[in-house]
Amino acid sequence: MKRIAILGFALESNAFAPPCGRADFEQRGYYRGADITAQARAEHPAIYSGICGFYAEMDRRHGPAGWQPVPIVHAASQPAGPVEEGFFRELLGEFEAGLQAAGRLDGVYVAEHGGATATHTHDPDGEVFALVRRLVGPDVPVVATLDLHANVSDAMMNSVDILVGYRTNPHVDIFERGEEAARLLEELMAGTRATAYRVRLPLVGPSVTLLTAEGHPYGDLIRLGQSRIDERVMNVTILAGFAFADTPKNGMTVIVTTRDDPALARSLAIELASAGWNDRQRYVPRMIPLDEAVEQARAVGADPMAPSLLFADPADNPGGGGRGNTTYILAAFLKAGVHGCIAGVFFDPALVEQARRAGEGARFRADLNTRESARFSEPLSWDARVVHLHDGRFVGHHGMVEGKTVDLGPSAVIALDGITLVVISKRQQCLSTDFFEALGVDVAGARSIVVKSRGHFRAGFQHLFPPERIREVDVPGLTSPNLANFDWRGLPRPVFPLDPEAGWTPPA
Ligand SMILES: [Zn+2]
Repeated sequence: MKRIAILGFALESNAFAPPCGRADFEQRGYYRGADITAQARAEHPAIYSGICGFYAEMDRRHGPAGWQPVPIVHAASQPAGPVEEGFFRELLGEFEAGLQAAGRLDGVYVAEHGGATATHTHDPDGEVFALVRRLVGPDVPVVATLDLHANVSDAMMNSVDILVGYRTNPHVDIFERGEEAARLLEELMAGTRATAYRVRLPLVGPSVTLLTAEGHPYGDLIRLGQSRIDERVMNVTILAGFAFADTPKNGMTVIVTTRDDPALARSLAIELASAGWNDRQRYVPRMIPLDEAVEQARAVGADPMAPSLLFADPADNPGGGGRGNTTYILAAFLKAGVHGCIAGVFFDPALVEQARRAGEGARFRADLNTRESARFSEPLSWDARVVHLHDGRFVGHHGMVEGKTVDLGPSAVIALDGITLVVISKRQQCLSTDFFEALGVDVAGARSIVVKSRGHFRAGFQHLFPPERIREVDVPGLTSPNLANFDWRGLPRPVFPLDPEAGWTPPA
């Protein structure tokens, strides 16, 4: 019976956000041993979906009793700053002890994010992969899944047999990539030899330019890559990477894995990288200024017949390490008297507590960001009414949380003049209409919506908001797509579009 180790470390690090540690992982998802298997096979799992997909495929092939999962540890945090070295070393220790105790293994599945940095290194993911390889030896196949915001190092590339990246943004194929990892691992265990080639481009696309729907350059490139899968090409992975990690390994990366055909892996990777580079002008962001957003929100608020609008705040995206609590859009909308607007989800445990003390229906002076010290998270004080209090737990119906358990922590719906604000205690981005509707807020009846999210919200709002009714607003924040706003230290320079003069020629 095949014995497969399952483990992983999942963090996307924003170099400009505060460091994170054990508490951040325990809040989001820290699973050990049998809990991983129970979560993977649960009806409404909270664990990382790639693991669920991996188990589903293995169970389909062998039956749940026909293979032996050896689950070790899976630790995932909300995107945050660099991981603290002390905690990270403890986690590596857990991986090591688990793999040493595992006995004979036939394969390993690593469910990684790939976009982490640490306080001591820009490549903690490389340390995880190298540790796994050192412990299992050169002959045990190792397959890893990566978020398409992963930044790939030599250590990552050299330590695993196949890197499988997501192909959708919003990420709605995480489960399927776990299934694919299982299929590829099976092939390797049956004796296929994988050879891969990687090309990295000096192209660091701002987050809002990295959508994969029709009409977007990154999606076009991924689809071109997929059109080349055949009996020789096992996998084509094209990772846009995560700009805010700010590391020397940043840059769009094409990885082609073949069935032992190194020449083909190389030529196809270079061909795809060239196509991506030739398309680089399409990675320049197009956002609207705040005063234009205010004008549009006020106009739709005053005209019940006008189509409602959704305003995204990509600069304060908790899914990219943002704090989820900047007030630029909220303050401007309040001052302009915008009506019929709902906004969220706003991370402020102290404000939830204030609302709880006041009680449902009560009026109170809402003090925002009283306990927050991050740059851009400025205080705001406004008269409010408590509309509703909630425990913040629900099962989602749309987008990336469809069928999944979501936990916002204790939450409050408060009304600030014409704006309904959903306030939460566990920092995360607004992924779908569920984040409002589960708390009793009517999304379909709103004139405008403001979401703290860069792009993942699109999958969970598309049933109400087609792309032409979505605006990305250019305001300050830890995840601003306006890359010139940041003091970069690690990025290889020059890179496009930050440095318009950046150049690249395909290797001879
Ligand atoms: Zn991602």
